Amino acid sequence: MHEPRIIENGAIGPVDGLKVPRFAGHTTFARLPRLEDVNDYDVAVVGVPFDSGVTYRPGARFGPSHIRQGSRLLRPYNPALDVKPFAGIQVVDAGDIAANPFDIAEAMAQIEAGVGELSAGGKPVVILGGDHTIALPALRALHTQHGPIALVHFDAHLDTWDTYFNAPYTHGTPFRRAWEEGLLHAGHTMHVGIRGSLYSERDLREDADMGFSIVHARDMDRLGADRVIEMIRERVGDAPVYISIDIDVLDPGFAPGTGTPEAGGLTSRELLAMVRGFDGAHVIGGDIVEVSPPYDHAEITAIVAANLAYEYCSLFARAAR
Ligand code: MN
Ligand code: MN
Repeated sequence: MHEPRIIENGAIGPVDGLKVPRFAGHTTFARLPRLEDVNDYDVAVVGVPFDSGVTYRPGARFGPSHIRQGSRLLRPYNPALDVKPFAGIQVVDAGDIAANPFDIAEAMAQIEAGVGELSAGGKPVVILGGDHTIALPALRALHTQHGPIALVHFDAHLDTWDTYFNAPYTHGTPFRRAWEEGLLHAGHTMHVGIRGSLYSERDLREDADMGFSIVHARDMDRLGADRVIEMIRERVGDAPVYISIDIDVLDPGFAPGTGTPEAGGLTSRELLAMVRGFDGAHVIGGDIVEVSPPYDHAEITAIVAANLAYEYCSLFARAAR
């Protein structure tokens, strides 16, 4: 069926939710046009259905399609940032990057090539995972465009392990590898939301040796989201920054559909506020990873993930005007 779209400021936007009910039609992110449906684009939303790097519950390979399904209710105007994310800029759903589920090295090369293609010329990307392994090839691709990258990493976990079962490329190791490869901007990297039990105190010591700063989840109430936003902005400064959101940074009550849940996490309200807090920073891309639909209920996790991607798009729309 022909789907009437919102067209505003020259941008081909979502299928009009006042003409076609939100539960009808094709399941692209926010019901946006596909890459093939437009001549050019400013921002690509792309799925990376890869979960061969997980250490506990699998299922994040089904994350992209689940987040797209959870994005159907996103409407054209974002009052929190006073912006129409799909009006001033052309945002597209670029589909999924095909990544080999049996060969992590090949998968990472495919992901790096895909992200590199979509971000050519410095275009921002929004990546829907997938497990956290995919952040490493994304950072490799973006480093090629931008040089050393500031990283703000929202996660219950540090993801700076060296190896797991002797494997160097897993969802627990991407930021150690990124640091070793010189992809990160020294002094401009931080974790937010860290919590849970560890194998040893050494995990924290080695992470500090790599130069990361940490906002622990247990300090969130004392600091508050506004103070943490100030800390983030001080940390990243004017550097090109990549935002990586492991959905398990949220409390399992707000995001049950994930692979490595930890008690005592952030609220979705806090996390959405912190993403909006990047308004005015030089954000070059962001991901939302570790959404595992088999453990989700009532699309709780899909809906928050979709809203986080919407906030990314809103940041890019505001940066463009
Ligand atoms: Mn995690
Ligand atoms: Mn992670």
